Amino acid sequence: MTDITLVQGDITRQHADAIVNAANSSLLGGGGVDGAIHRRGGPAILEECRALRASRYGKGLPTGRAVATTAGELDARWVIHTVGPVWSATEDRSDLLASCYREALRVADELGARTVAFPAVSTGVYRWPMRDAARIAVETVRNTPTAVEEARFVLFDERAYEAFARQAG
Ligand code: ADP
Repeated sequence: MTDITLVQGDITRQHADAIVNAANSSLLGGGGVDGAIHRRGGPAILEECRALRASRYGKGLPTGRAVATTAGELDARWVIHTVGPVWSATEDRSDLLASCYREALRVADELGARTVAFPAVSTGVYRWPMRDAARIAVETVRNTPTAVEEARFVLFDERAYEAFARQAG
């Protein structure tokens, strides 16, 4: 059974085997969590991201997929980059958001990561409503078979924390 834990704070300050990044498909950095992870983790992360773009992911990492790099100077062994869907009011992209969590857990299992810290993927620049994002995140992690022992949601502000707390109940 995977323990679901919640903390309010900055994901770049977490100690975990793997830290999940809400990346964009370019893998070359952005704002929000992505910017914070690259700033604190240092250039080694971007270097591996560039290598991934030059090899496996020439066209970028597709939405809903996940790939690992070093965690550089972060207190973790790996960063698992995943690309959340942009919120759409006209198209149901829930399965793509769920896929981010499933794929991140699959990559974590491949690596042998036992503790994984997740941000609230898609709820920033990609505008996914927090309550719905929290439901998808918690349900997906609960229902995905994995050897990960702790899935820790790291919520940046109180509003996000409360939304996840209501779901994780
Ligand atoms: P996306 O493009 O997937 O929406 P963002 O990085 O813009 O990704 O936002 C995702 C969520 O991460 C938002 O709820 C945002 O408030 C939160 N966030 C931003 N910086 C951090 C951080 N350092 N640690 C944890 N969460 C963060």
